[in-house]
Amino acid sequence: MKSVRDLDVSGKTLFIRVDYNLPMDDQGNISDDNRIRATLELITYLIEKKSKLILASHLGRPKGGRDKKFSLKPAAVRLSELLNMPVAFAEDCIGDAVKKQVQALEPGQILMLENLRFHEEEKKNDPDFSKALADLCDVYVNDAFAVSHRDQASVTGITRYAKSSAAGFLLEKEVRSYYDSVEHPKKPLIVVIGGAKVSSKLAALENMLKFVDCMIIGGAMANTFLAANGVDTKGSMIETDLIDTASGIMAHAREKGINLLLPSDLVVADRFDKDAQSRTVSLNEIPDGWMALDVGPESAKRFANAIASAGTIVWNGPMGVFEMGPFAAGTQAVADAIAGSSAFSVVGGGDTGLAAKQCGITEKVSYISTGGGAFLHMMEGKVLPGVAALE
Ligand code: AMP
Repeated sequence: MKSVRDLDVSGKTLFIRVDYNLPMDDQGNISDDNRIRATLELITYLIEKKSKLILASHLGRPKGGRDKKFSLKPAAVRLSELLNMPVAFAEDCIGDAVKKQVQALEPGQILMLENLRFHEEEKKNDPDFSKALADLCDVYVNDAFAVSHRDQASVTGITRYAKSSAAGFLLEKEVRSYYDSVEHPKKPLIVVIGGAKVSSKLAALENMLKFVDCMIIGGAMANTFLAANGVDTKGSMIETDLIDTASGIMAHAREKGINLLLPSDLVVADRFDKDAQSRTVSLNEIPDGWMALDVGPESAKRFANAIASAGTIVWNGPMGVFEMGPFAAGTQAVADAIAGSSAFSVVGGGDTGLAAKQCGITEKVSYISTGGGAFLHMMEGKVLPGVAALE
């Protein structure tokens, strides 16, 4: 992957694809500007190199055409505050008016374009649209890891027309952290996987068996594995069509000598509600109609003990319904164990970043990925299209 560091960028016009798909509240205020902060190192570097910077991103899922609710203007304002310098804003991302604004850029200045997805050609990876974006610049830089699993105009299409393309610092850091932790880890490598469904992480589970020494499975996805072991999971969330697949994964892990840990006790509730009646039970004690919403304290302790011996930890997916207080303890215990470990630790997947934040361990892990789908894509062993396009 060519890095922007290896190019002569001074005086050049750079089109930087960033991921400023920021969470906004109802009034259109940014509720978390981490995604902007994650790009500041690159932007500052390029300003010092006297490049002319065009920043482009998508925001939300506008349904065709312009929609003020999804404007990137607030992102331009916030970036300007963070850099303490002006950031110009273009009302569109292609067209004559935008070209004029680009031509007017002086070295070290920044122009942010309006939401790429106001043009449906962005998602369709339309060649003419890709070319129109590429025509704005001398160099295309992808720094939008979180969308690099998508084949879209500003991610892959543009590289066919841009004179030169390279990776930005964030994209490099994300890809390197993943490969260092999974494919060249300090052993033992422990992967903690949780969340709602086996189906959404099946490919990742199967691929991880190639690398891990220990795999911890929690969350609702553990229910399907427990069912494969003959546990009657009663009213718990489960994917019956994947019970055989879960058995296959466990058999494969056994053959390879991988220590696969499942919950040995559960926090169960009479309904899916934070005010539900709940209690801790062993696997064969789930009352009729009740559901498992978290791993129990004994499981959490076993998981934490395993994590304490890790050389490298990858965590994707909560251990329970961490959004509801009574079912957050399993996730908190795993988070604390990761935070307390001296292993290189990577946290990835949208909900997991949120869980890490809620558990207060953000500053105590080695790396938190900015990508959900893109991180999972790498865990599945696939090359990101946005990365392949740069090669
Ligand atoms: P994912 O996006 O697959 O990582 O799933 C995250 C979601 O899984 C979170 O919103 C959790 O509330 C949910 N989850 C975790 N454990 C359970 C469980 N035992 N039952 C139902 N939902 C769960």
